[in-house]
Amino acid sequence: MTAAAPTPARQELLGLPLPKLAAALAETIDRPFRARQVYDALHRRGADDFEAMTDLPAALRHQLAARFSLDLPELTERIDSGDGTTKYLLRLADGSSIETVDIPERFRRTLCLSSQAGCALACAFCVTGYWGAGRSLTAAEVVGQVRLLRRVAALPETVNLVFMGMGEPMLNLPALADALEVLGETLALRRITISTAGVVPGIDELAGWERRPNLAVSLHAPDDERRTRLMPVNRTWPLAELIEALARFPLEPRRRITIEYLLLEGFNDSPRDADALVRLLARVPVKFNLIPFNPDPVLPGWMRRPGPERVEVFRARLAARGATVTVRRQRGHDVAAACGQLRAFARAPRGPRARRGGDAPPGRSRPGSK
Ligand code: SAH
Repeated sequence: MTAAAPTPARQELLGLPLPKLAAALAETIDRPFRARQVYDALHRRGADDFEAMTDLPAALRHQLAARFSLDLPELTERIDSGDGTTKYLLRLADGSSIETVDIPERFRRTLCLSSQAGCALACAFCVTGYWGAGRSLTAAEVVGQVRLLRRVAALPETVNLVFMGMGEPMLNLPALADALEVLGETLALRRITISTAGVVPGIDELAGWERRPNLAVSLHAPDDERRTRLMPVNRTWPLAELIEALARFPLEPRRRITIEYLLLEGFNDSPRDADALVRLLARVPVKFNLIPFNPDPVLPGWMRRPGPERVEVFRARLAARGATVTVRRQRGHDVAAACGQLRAFARAPRGPRARRGGDAPPGRSRPGSK
């Protein structure tokens, strides 16, 4: 058997900020300013391929195309819900799958991006966590989600980006830093939000960035006992440490940290919990975003979504104590739009499930990256 010589992989360019792009191109370009031309073509004008870079000599365009890649993730599934939300399942070059969700609202358009192809944090209510860890995305794959959606959906020029898809962004900050630098060429950073399960060193690292996106934190319970039940990461960084990190996080005037709070009926949705939440965050400029739990057959059966009246009582209690609070409208429910649900759907079509329900966390298979 004759083994074909492996074709050298073309280097990905889409995730590279200008200095890194210049270094990558150095041996190919004839003049240093070409790097800037390529960068502007890609990230200011949104060029899809080298051929579109007509300010470069044709010979150089061909050389670039032979050595470098502008490949996007591959769209494998697209599910439209009745309410306008569209969920995209994307396949990456190594076969991993991720989800990206397009959420149109009356006055804005939001893309929900993934940061990892899986998640190691194993939050009890999360389908991505149920399926286990996956690798971190490259900066090109993060940028690629936005570019792909621009190609297949009619997006307005200005969109909001939230890292609330699959994965824990704070465990992939180097790639996010590069991706945000590139995306920040045409999008204000205040339109971008990084949501974390509470990885304190990541929050502190973000605090040190010169230009910062918004910070959101998934809190989900007002005390360590309950938070640890939902989120094992709370053992590593318990509430006191997390709140400290939020209190020292630098905020521009009038900006606030978003506190995401999952509502689970009878578990963390009593008026007393609302009071405790306000006390806990008294020193931090926050706004609350309440998220009624989105059930899924793979998740433990004891978790239930509260009805609208209970949600309203909780919301009103926070508001009465002076808090700013919004309730996440149920969007894309019929397309399984909660974190990781579509990928799970694609992987294991619904049917009788052995692991359905139960009070203990289900046995987790840790398939690694898919
Ligand atoms: N790892 C990050 C971002 C991904 S999860 C984080 O933890 O914040 C994005 C948001 O979706 C989080 O607030 C998460 O708690 C929430 N979420 C996950 N599964 C959910 C479910 N089944 N129902 C409702 N919200 C869910």
